[in-house]
Amino acid sequence: MAGTAYDLAVIGAGVFGAWTAYQFSRAGARVLLLDQHGPGNARSSSGGETRIIRMSYGADEIYTRSSTQSLKRWKEFFAETGLSLFHQTGVLVTSTPDDPYLIATRDTLSRICCRFEWLERDSLRERFPHIMFEPATTGVYEPESGVLMARRAVQAVVDAAVRAGTRYENWRADAPTSSHTLRTTGGNIEADAFVFACGPWLPALFPKILGNRIRPTRQQVFFFGAPPGDDRFAPPQTPAWIAFHEGAYAVPSLDGRGFKLAVDRHGPPFDPETGNREITRAKLAEARFILDKRFPGLAGAPLLEARVCQYENTSNGDFLVDRHPDFENVWLAGGGSGHGFKHGPFVGEYIAARIVARTDPEPRFSLTAKKIRRRRTVY
Ligand SMILES: Cc1cc2nc3c(=O)[nH]c(=O)nc-3n(C[C@H](O)[C@H](O)[C@H](O)COP(=O)(O)OP(=O)(O)OC[C@H]3O[C@@H](n4cnc5c(N)ncnc54)[C@H](O)[C@@H]3O)c2cc1C
Repeated sequence: MAGTAYDLAVIGAGVFGAWTAYQFSRAGARVLLLDQHGPGNARSSSGGETRIIRMSYGADEIYTRSSTQSLKRWKEFFAETGLSLFHQTGVLVTSTPDDPYLIATRDTLSRICCRFEWLERDSLRERFPHIMFEPATTGVYEPESGVLMARRAVQAVVDAAVRAGTRYENWRADAPTSSHTLRTTGGNIEADAFVFACGPWLPALFPKILGNRIRPTRQQVFFFGAPPGDDRFAPPQTPAWIAFHEGAYAVPSLDGRGFKLAVDRHGPPFDPETGNREITRAKLAEARFILDKRFPGLAGAPLLEARVCQYENTSNGDFLVDRHPDFENVWLAGGGSGHGFKHGPFVGEYIAARIVARTDPEPRFSLTAKKIRRRRTVY
């Protein structure tokens, strides 16, 4: 529709919304980007200090490809902006040698020529003598992957979008009631297309469509302090580590923030706006149990910081990027499901391709693929 104020209004300046606004602005579109609490705010899923970027995704090649493309884009972005918000720590994914996920990961990475090493007991012990693994443990090590400084990276993408012409406002938007006008706390806005990239707020904003298709869950993250002068738990000695079969992951200490350890299993339902963000003793004890067992050099380490965040889970972990069923020009983008951050650049490009080039939809990202019954298959 010619004559509207904006070509695109993006609601939500988390990693998905930020990259969407950035892509469109770079292509010359008139973009308005809104966030109720600010880019990378503490309630948002993108608001954490760090997020792992890995290529390992079992047989889910679609996400391996997306990660590969996204890592390239993140690096280009940081090179262009002169920021060093990616740390090439390496990523180690461990399991038992017969774990179908690990075997499928190896096959996928080989097929699409991602650099990795298959590490068995002796090489694991030699490479990471301070990490305790069971004798049968096997790992996929990705030397080129690592950790993104999440909150600051999102803010940097929003800044870049603004430099490219995006108008950014700290406003809250209502759910759409018509195709071209949207009510916000800053007044009504008009745009040709709207992207609601509202992360864990999506189910409350669109209760009929997403109320039981995206479930925010309460997740707790802990940062432990290494003994003075002990640099074994920072890069290059410790990579990011993921053990899906144990339900745990860790990020080496970066910028002196401490060694991060968390349980990846889904917690109870959580409201991102009003949920209580105090940690629980039980989860801290669970984190300490894993810490003591796998990283004995950190046994009894002081807790430096802890955070409660939320995953926004679809039924199986696939993203949602699709049209609103009632409005042709309204798009829903979310369902990062605890693994979405790294994919921000890919998601931004996917949305641009769908809206501008009208490319065919990826069935796995469609609304109809989002079931009510939960069965997590994407890790
Ligand atoms: C503890 C934890 C660890 C994780 N680890 C990893 C990892 O290692 N690697 C990885 O790739 N991913 C990881 N993830 C997942 C990843 O962080 C998320 O999938 C991703 O950040 C989701 O981004 P988003 O843009 O969809 O949502 P968000 O970042 O939540 O952004 C949504 C934004 O929308 C705004 N908003 C909502 N409603 C409105 C409204 N009505 N009007 C205006 N603004 C609105 C909010 O304020 C918010 O800023 C992790 C997540 C958590 C919680």
